[in-house]
Amino acid sequence: MYSREEARQLDRLDKLASYRKEFYLQEGTIYLDGNSLGLLSQRAERSLLEILDSWKSYGIDGWTNGHHPWFYLSEALGERMAYLVGCKPEEVVVTGSTTVNLHQLVATFYQPTAARTKILADELTFPSDIYALKSQLKLKGYDPKEHLVLVKSRDGKTIEEADLIEAMTEEIALIVLPSVLYRSGQLFDMKTLTEEAHKRGIMIGFDLCHSVGAIPHQLHDWGVDFAFWCNYKYLNGGPGCVAALYVHERHFGREPGLSGWFSSKKNKQFDMEPDLTPEEHAGAFQIGTPHILSTAPLIGSLSLFCEVGMENIRQKSLRLTEYMMALIERELANYEFMIGNPREDKRRGGHVYLEHPEAARICQALKAEGVIPDFRKPNGIRLAPVALYNTYEDVWQAVHILKEIMEKEKHKKFPNERGVVA
Ligand SMILES: *Cc1c(COP(=O)(O)O)cnc(C)c1O
Repeated sequence: MYSREEARQLDRLDKLASYRKEFYLQEGTIYLDGNSLGLLSQRAERSLLEILDSWKSYGIDGWTNGHHPWFYLSEALGERMAYLVGCKPEEVVVTGSTTVNLHQLVATFYQPTAARTKILADELTFPSDIYALKSQLKLKGYDPKEHLVLVKSRDGKTIEEADLIEAMTEEIALIVLPSVLYRSGQLFDMKTLTEEAHKRGIMIGFDLCHSVGAIPHQLHDWGVDFAFWCNYKYLNGGPGCVAALYVHERHFGREPGLSGWFSSKKNKQFDMEPDLTPEEHAGAFQIGTPHILSTAPLIGSLSLFCEVGMENIRQKSLRLTEYMMALIERELANYEFMIGNPREDKRRGGHVYLEHPEAARICQALKAEGVIPDFRKPNGIRLAPVALYNTYEDVWQAVHILKEIMEKEKHKKFPNERGVVA
């Protein structure tokens, strides 16, 4: 048990094993950072080159000609992403960036009344989301100190859902939560949280950055009001890839909080009228000209996800992380490591969160030995074995490399500090 040979045997039985060869992996490295920046696939490379070619061939007419007419690309890809988040095709559009989409959605859905003025979030949320929520409060004339309610963590890593529900008081106008906490990888029960919010007359939206492409969702059936996510983590759309947003169809027709000419109905847009006629689906929440070159890799990348299926991806991801945790417990028991993510399948996302007081320098040692994790303050090592391109043998090797680092104290020669990009 737990031999390298056994890891190889698991790989031989893996139904998704053939997809690894579609990705550009660096020889001699084990990439476990797909939760920060997914790797390039050949399909994504091809679709980027196709879009460049349409520019070369068509010039301005690329907006309406070629394989992927640019004018309709954001909606066309939204339709294909609907499957990943479990909603209707017209409820998603590929646009903006995570943080900009959050601004758009809060500008649209945060409608304070005399009684309800506060926004509810949690203290472990990704900082960019907190900054955005604070600026939206300020724009509406509210002091974030009083009007942004951040639910506290009991253990510094996870948030109790009961504490979130208890904080859904009559003063709360809007709730914004992550699907998966970026550090500990805790997966929230989005269905229950949405039901509880709605029982209390509160709108709720989710940041899906750490679940999209790793975990299946049913946003429409759960009744989630809105959501937003980036496409460069598990979805492998490339650095700075254009993001996406979802709005439940019950909100179609709502005026976008931040409008621009790309909020228009497509056939009205070039009438150039001073009054906007917004689209009557998620497309209304676009603002300006789409970043076509930063959208292009998604065309190829999404085709992989549709082909493989989210259930298969989630199952393999769970088995890989489970295997990793078992190996960590077995091989690293003497070295002060703690597994900081929740252990139950239904409460954890796509990465393992390993805590150690010397995490920063251990990460540097891992990189020097060809294992790519990432460090998150104060003491976390995130390790994401990704279903589409990592193997059980990658996991086996990474844990054994880590064991050797600890045995030989190779990490001691690095400063225990994070890099500029951790
Ligand atoms: C990665 C990530 C972001 C990043 O936002 P950008 O606008 O793409 O820079 C935001 N929120 C969460 C939870 C993330 O994991």
